[in-house]
Amino acid sequence: MTLTVASIEGRRLDHFIGGRRTAPHSGQYLQSFDPTTGAPWYEAADGDAADIDAAVRVAQAASMDPAWRRITQTDRGRLVRRLAELVAREADALALMEMRDNGKLLREMQAQLKAMPDAYHYFAGMADKLQGDTIPVNKLDMLNFTLREPIGVVGMITPWNSPLMLLTGTLAPCLAIGNTVVIKPSEHTSASTLALAELVKEAGFPDGVVNVVTGHGRTAGEALTRHPGVAKIVFTGSTATGRRIAANAAGNLVPCQMELGGKSPHVVFDDVDLDRAVNGVMAGVFAAGGQTCIAGSRCFVEAGIYDTFVERLVDRARRVRIGHPAQEDTELGPLALAAQLEKVETYVGYGVADGATIATGGRRPQDGELAAGWYYEPTVLVDAKNDMRFMRDEIFGPVVGVMPFRGEDELIRLANDTRYGLAAGIWTRDIDRAMRFARNVDAGTVWINTYRSAAFMSPSGGFKESGYGRRGGFEVMREFSRLKNVVVDYSGATQDPFVIRLR
Ligand code: NAD
Repeated sequence: MTLTVASIEGRRLDHFIGGRRTAPHSGQYLQSFDPTTGAPWYEAADGDAADIDAAVRVAQAASMDPAWRRITQTDRGRLVRRLAELVAREADALALMEMRDNGKLLREMQAQLKAMPDAYHYFAGMADKLQGDTIPVNKLDMLNFTLREPIGVVGMITPWNSPLMLLTGTLAPCLAIGNTVVIKPSEHTSASTLALAELVKEAGFPDGVVNVVTGHGRTAGEALTRHPGVAKIVFTGSTATGRRIAANAAGNLVPCQMELGGKSPHVVFDDVDLDRAVNGVMAGVFAAGGQTCIAGSRCFVEAGIYDTFVERLVDRARRVRIGHPAQEDTELGPLALAAQLEKVETYVGYGVADGATIATGGRRPQDGELAAGWYYEPTVLVDAKNDMRFMRDEIFGPVVGVMPFRGEDELIRLANDTRYGLAAGIWTRDIDRAMRFARNVDAGTVWINTYRSAAFMSPSGGFKESGYGRRGGFEVMREFSRLKNVVVDYSGATQDPFVIRLR
């Protein structure tokens, strides 16, 4: 892998199209910033519609090329496993690159990268298990069966918060199934996806199977979602962008998979071990600086323990160690973008204006080096209500609103009072109650006595405005293949051309 933090510092990175670095058609590059200092540290090609067109054409050609189309399933799986080994070899370098781009804790990015090869191995195993059915029909001497085939060119648009991890859940199965791909990573985190493309080449995939066009959403991203050569769009990002992309894709009647935003309820009943529940709520919203789609940003606490719980949560939040993301003991790093920091401040301001109270946080740390970066204190807002703006909209930062509830009926009403439906968590020792909650809450994933416990073997995705389609588990085999029905008449009989035989 030639792209590493040291090798790209201060450099210009080109697209990766057809197995080669390709300069942008426009000659323009965009800057990528280091969130700990706010300073630019490399530039990436600022792609446009011409670059997207070139990449989609190359991907279309690769999907028809016998080098990819006629490869056996076993060999396809072998290539994906080889990629897994290369990701394992480069895990530390890739983690460092992502930390430098999005400011997330090095420990967190390392954990993601170390787990990633297992995901590639898991999806590689699907390559030779994609099978159709034989359908018993009411006709003698007829064979009726289904085939599962690759779809063609899949366009993938990814966000900045966990670039490679969020890509893996769709890229790995797409490759195992035999699709080709054009990826448009976030303009804030181009480097690791370009580095991965180099590993794809090193693994031995034919050129053109995986292509990366960097650039802004409104230019490169938009062009990808409108390109008639794309057979499916996979999008991970905000609900507003998802809505726009789905409309573009509809113009070409192209299906989408949408992994969008969330405003997830995180519930604490009065029968819990308080320390466990406080840690769970902390992990749910302050880990990753709250920059996760599944953040448990609306916390509902049973009225009887509300005051005690808030006291413990605030006490623990005040002790969070804010610092440089590469430091071993840092618990909260900076936000990834200056605009993200401003958004967090704006929404905390809305919270106060709408009647909530800041119990802790609500400020940028002022001491030493932290003042220069995009840092924000973990923030707990109490006296929260669902109709406040900071409780309705996704903030994507270390901010939680806490409110009391009385009884399960009120809880379900409050938990579901959101336009999102991505995830939900509940802490209780009463399994009956937990199961009732799991059945009644509108969320694609429900965690009981745990939170943010994700696995590539399980299907994840949202309801309502959190999106549609699933990634993870066997569901992806359906998502990234198309189903064909084949009917064979082996009777040898010549039929009257104007009579349709129903039996
Ligand atoms: P975003 O929507 O601003 O951008 C995501 C990607 O879309 C970027 O690559 C961007 O360049 C591109 N884009 C922007 N406008 C576009 C357009 N008009 N056409 C095509 N592409 C366009 O989101 P973000 O700020 O990068 O990421 C944060 C959001 O992602 C949050 O809302 C978060 O909840 C969501 N997210 C969801 C999941 C999930 O699995 N559900 C996971 C991570 C992040």
